[in-house]
Amino acid sequence: MIDTSAMRADIGVIGGSGFYSFLDDVTEVTVETPYGDPSDSLFVGELAGRRVAFLPRHGRDHRLPPNRINYRANLWALRSLGVRQVLAPCAVGGLRPEYGPGTLLVPDQLVDRTKTRQQTFFDGEPLPDGSAPNVVHTTFADPYCPTGRAVAVAVARGHGWDPVVDGGTMVVVEGPRFSTRAESRWHAAQGWSVVGMTGHPEAVLARELELCYTSMALVTDLDAGAETGDGVSHAEVMRVFAENVGRLREVIFAAVCALPETDGRTCLCTRVHEGWDLGITLP
Ligand SMILES: [Zn+2]
Repeated sequence: MIDTSAMRADIGVIGGSGFYSFLDDVTEVTVETPYGDPSDSLFVGELAGRRVAFLPRHGRDHRLPPNRINYRANLWALRSLGVRQVLAPCAVGGLRPEYGPGTLLVPDQLVDRTKTRQQTFFDGEPLPDGSAPNVVHTTFADPYCPTGRAVAVAVARGHGWDPVVDGGTMVVVEGPRFSTRAESRWHAAQGWSVVGMTGHPEAVLARELELCYTSMALVTDLDAGAETGDGVSHAEVMRVFAENVGRLREVIFAAVCALPETDGRTCLCTRVHEGWDLGITLP
């Protein structure tokens, strides 16, 4: 009998090789899903006794633009390995002058301005096993796990990260282009905090699968409406992310260890579909 314990995890981190490449005994796991292939293999390892699965959101060679990521396959694959809590670091632009590069913002709200993405598992399409999802309207007033958010903020502050912003609204745009100055000023005028390209539908798909989902948004630039130069460039984003990936990894590892045990969770995320017939069985 094959020992599959090396392929199990209860915490997922959606982030690239910078987060897992030096862990000992990482097992590469290929996962098939009813929705097609995830962005890449999942890389499963152990961190202070916690089982963690890492998934490079854009693929290990960063070949997938935000609008081409198979978000449904990614979340389904994580859950298939046993994952119930997800930490999701991402790069964002700051919409306020005080949210400069290096700011870590743990959002408590999001605004969806994506255009082309599959954002539900409950679209009526039968799965390969013949089951078909029922119509399901998922509670999403508070899109992030309150427990995961509190852990992320406390751990980042405990590591001396400055500034850490507790709460705020992440607007998610389709990409892959950056915003125009007019779009950016409009986003800022709404009172929104940061702008990203991957935070949705990741968050709602996690909620549909009853996963605890926590976004950790690293500001890499001031968005076009909040700065006066030529506007944000891809090279600038990559440079600032690379500068911060080491300390972000430390914070994420500490957060993994500080998250509650899977069975000890009491948050809404664990029971959003309570009493409702989904028509399909979650993995
Ligand atoms: Zn939760």
